[in-house]
Amino acid sequence: MLRPSEVESNVTKHVFVTGGVTSSLGKGITASSLGRLLEARGLRVTLQKLDPYINVDPGTMNPFEHGEVFVTDDGGETDLDLGHYERFTGVHLSRDSNVTTGSIYQSVIRKERRGDYLGATVQVIPHITNEIKARVRKLDRDDVDVVITEVGGTVGDIEGLPFLEAIRQIRKDVGAENTCYIHVTLVPYLETSEELKTKPTQHSVAELRSRGILPEVIVVRSDRPLDESARRKISLFCDVEPDAVINALNVGDIYEVPLAMEAAGLDAVVCRELGLETEPPDMDAWRTMVQRGKDAKRPVTIGLVGKYVDLPDAYLSVVESLRHSASANGANLEIRWIPAEEVDGLLAPSHLDGLDGILVPGGFGIRGVEGKIEAIRHARENGVPFLGLCLGLQCAVIEFSRNVLGHRGAHSTEFDPTTTDPVIDLMEDQADVEDLGGTMRLGIYPAKLMPGTRTQRLYGEEVIYERHRHRWEVNNRYRTELEAAGLVFAGKSPDDRLVEIIEMPTHPYFIATQFHPEFKSRPDNPHPLFSGFVAAALERREASRDTDTAHVETHAKTPH
Ligand code: GLN
Repeated sequence: MLRPSEVESNVTKHVFVTGGVTSSLGKGITASSLGRLLEARGLRVTLQKLDPYINVDPGTMNPFEHGEVFVTDDGGETDLDLGHYERFTGVHLSRDSNVTTGSIYQSVIRKERRGDYLGATVQVIPHITNEIKARVRKLDRDDVDVVITEVGGTVGDIEGLPFLEAIRQIRKDVGAENTCYIHVTLVPYLETSEELKTKPTQHSVAELRSRGILPEVIVVRSDRPLDESARRKISLFCDVEPDAVINALNVGDIYEVPLAMEAAGLDAVVCRELGLETEPPDMDAWRTMVQRGKDAKRPVTIGLVGKYVDLPDAYLSVVESLRHSASANGANLEIRWIPAEEVDGLLAPSHLDGLDGILVPGGFGIRGVEGKIEAIRHARENGVPFLGLCLGLQCAVIEFSRNVLGHRGAHSTEFDPTTTDPVIDLMEDQADVEDLGGTMRLGIYPAKLMPGTRTQRLYGEEVIYERHRHRWEVNNRYRTELEAAGLVFAGKSPDDRLVEIIEMPTHPYFIATQFHPEFKSRPDNPHPLFSGFVAAALERREASRDTDTAHVETHAKTPH
């Protein structure tokens, strides 16, 4: 017979994070921060997002509306919150960590067609809710102590109801002592009455309670500290302990949130609710890292040449990766958003002036491609550090073919199917497939690095594993010519068939990758190619400042 403590230690606990009052309250950052704190207490954590929209996955959604698509090791195209989960914690998530209404219905309908329901009428309750529960429970494996599940959307939305019903039932299934419900809300400040208003929070919690979910913790976002009376009101009307009203004030840097949440007692309350006894969290290394970011003073300006520059979330992981590397390099980063379309054809050179580095991120579709190519030409010709990601590599190869090899019409067959020089093309085994959806290279693939290259020195490894999301590849027919003209294929697939990384050894920093390194950068472990890029940009900035100073000094000495 197992003693109670042993039984207890085998049970996976579930934390559910819902949101009320408005969207965009930072549920994802709250869930991620809690994940980090529980890990810092020695617990094994995993995270998951339930998204109420009907797309099967966000792969087909416009990044302009929805933000970036985050890619997991196993090739899942997922919500950008999974990027936060991975960056804040040590976990490697899989596609199982993102569940959408679309994917739930897809599998229920597939089962219905197969006859799995034995003639039953298939309904939202229990069939849809059971499917949701099965997806959540799939994560409570033996090697996980706590599953943190974030429910997307706002409580009160029609489309979120099956998810709320499912997470309510899980409490019954696994026992109240093994679940904890956290509700994230907003307490606005009204200028007219000079007061923080708790009513929207009360209403939102009432709505949640009407669905049978009694939250134990309320995380309150506010732009000024919650006073005692507001805290008491929330505690009383929402029926939570006063210390379970966690005030989440706005902070300057998202990586400070775990520290702020620790100070506000979030992890302590959650552990108490779940009956978990641990040492206090060890956040020393994290604190040092956040402080390093605050102390970083060396100015550096990176131009990000993109299509979706009005919605920075479209490039979230790229921006975060730059920030990780900036902070580790002691750099105070300024990102200049450069709309690729305005640079189109007639390059607006002013956009590219004064940049210490140029980054061309991934993308689909022809819009902005000529502008990206022009920006890369500028970087190549002027020795401006350059980092190209996926489409950024493809544009660099097109630019090099046109302007160095002299193939004026060089292009990718994605953008010009009848180009005279298809330097970027589909692989032969892909070209005949009609459904392009099936041919995307997604998820982690190995690449072997060429010894002696800058890339290899930066990684310090011989074989690397990086995440992909693309269809087109460098056309092998042009490899010899490209190499002869000075382009180095610093990384290739182990069978040599696919170019993974290019670099230009004669340039201060010119590296581009067919994969997306931005998905693997962490605040406490920046990606080597981003770090090398930011370091090169800093070097350029500081060298040019030295030249300016020298110039001024010479002037000063010139007799009039
Ligand atoms: N559109 C290009 C391709 O499919 C690049 C994709 C990307 O940048 N993620 O190959």
